[in-house]
Amino acid sequence: MTCSNLRKHPRSLNVGPNKMVNALNDEPDLRQVLRDAGLRVTPQRASIITILSETDDHPNVEELYEKVRALDDTISVATVYRTMSVLENVGLVRKLVLDDAPARYEMMPPTNHDHLVDLESGELVEIPGTDIADVMNRVASELGYEIVSHHTVIRARKR
Ligand SMILES: [Zn+2]
Repeated sequence: MTCSNLRKHPRSLNVGPNKMVNALNDEPDLRQVLRDAGLRVTPQRASIITILSETDDHPNVEELYEKVRALDDTISVATVYRTMSVLENVGLVRKLVLDDAPARYEMMPPTNHDHLVDLESGELVEIPGTDIADVMNRVASELGYEIVSHHTVIRARKR
């Protein structure tokens, strides 16, 4: 009771000449996000997660690589591939597997949403997942299941 109201000292960040650290000053929580997921904080992971959390356009690995390079020009495409797989495995990012296209990524969404792919433009549109989840829950429930996770990609063409 005596200590519970004491505020923790803000963690002092190691500010170096490197741009990556400066970018992380804006989002110090991201390092904690990595630690909370049981991952060691490496500069590569920190840069990638910084970029991904700032974007809402569902980049693929090549696009991520181009952006991350601006923060850290020592990073390689192979590292981005490996890192995305690590981040996906611990549930920090969601991998969107699309037909005939490289997988795209987003931070694990705090709100439930699904995606619609415009087949002509390739644009990925976020759609609310609630109604879709209701239907899926009903179907699964009738079969005696409860849904653990789901993600729907609707392939569509403008009318
Ligand atoms: Zn999304």
